[in-house]
Amino acid sequence: MKTFQCRCGNTTFFENSRCISCDHALGWCPACKNMTTLASAEDGTLQCGHEVCGVLLIKCRNYSVHNVCNRCCMQDAAGEDSDLCDYCRHNDTIPDLSVPGNREMWLRLEEAKRRLLYTLDLLKLPYGTEADGFEPSLAFDFKADKPLEDKRWRSLRKQERVFTGHADGKITINLREADPVERERSRVLFQEAHRTVVGHFRHEIAHFYWQMLVQDICEEDCKVVFGDHDDPSYSDAQKLYYENGPKSNWQAEYVSAYATMHPWEDFAETFATYLDMVSVLDTAWNVGINGGCEPTTADLPAMVDAYIRLGVVLNETNRAMGLIDLVPEILTTMVAAKLEYVHDLIRSAAVTP
Ligand SMILES: [Zn+2]
Ligand SMILES: [Zn+2]
Ligand SMILES: [Zn+2]
Ligand SMILES: [Zn+2]
Repeated sequence: MKTFQCRCGNTTFFENSRCISCDHALGWCPACKNMTTLASAEDGTLQCGHEVCGVLLIKCRNYSVHNVCNRCCMQDAAGEDSDLCDYCRHNDTIPDLSVPGNREMWLRLEEAKRRLLYTLDLLKLPYGTEADGFEPSLAFDFKADKPLEDKRWRSLRKQERVFTGHADGKITINLREADPVERERSRVLFQEAHRTVVGHFRHEIAHFYWQMLVQDICEEDCKVVFGDHDDPSYSDAQKLYYENGPKSNWQAEYVSAYATMHPWEDFAETFATYLDMVSVLDTAWNVGINGGCEPTTADLPAMVDAYIRLGVVLNETNRAMGLIDLVPEILTTMVAAKLEYVHDLIRSAAVTP
């Protein structure tokens, strides 16, 4: 990620919707693909504050009405039904905003979703809706478990539970994952090195790209790297995993314990680690940390090498502050081979304009 600059000269960030120095509204301009100061023209319409751009903008409806987005639409492209930005138009279900606290949790989901889509755009990965002719069509459901009201003794029936996951283009995230207390409880319970909102998005988008780029296209190649996803079946593998736990010494071959469950989860965890790596390398590159590499053009060994070196620095920095390691994965030769598969898949899918 880059940092940006307000018209007043203050440094601004991807998540900002207001400059803390001059109090001007900020937003993402889809024309110059940049965070910008939203300048008001005389008639009150908004305009991109970058002089070379200057297009007329309107705030995304989720920005103007709910303040959970900070992106804008081009004014001439926005009709009555299209006042949602390029990222929000993928939302199929938003949380019930009559429930106290849900707007704040939705905001955290949207911030993570924007980070995800920014990285997909950086890598020029294809995605779109059915109307754009994409199959699978990308959509998000942000939903909470149905509250139990006065029947607290009863366990949740299956249909009342929301499972974070991917099915046929639809990514569902349980709103609970945006609650830091609940999320940390789950992280400790499942002995995970990290559990983050953006991490969920990166994992689920991997299943989306498996369907788009691997299924019925190059499944045999994928089996060579990750194992046979048809045998054992997913449900058998899942049952075994929850009965017996992860394979011993999994660190030699897998990025996480969960990746040992089934080849689909190994692919998803590896793909998510690749997106983590790209995001960290891109940030380091933009802020000018020495020894990095530009992750959209570098080859995989250079990226892995830079990420390992950067990981030592960033982990030590976190430890200095008493935080968990920023880069917990051990990128062994076998893990790097899986990353290479994901790298080649992504590079070959990149859409050249
Ligand atoms: Zn400012
Ligand atoms: Zn602009
Ligand atoms: Zn939006
Ligand atoms: Zn998964």
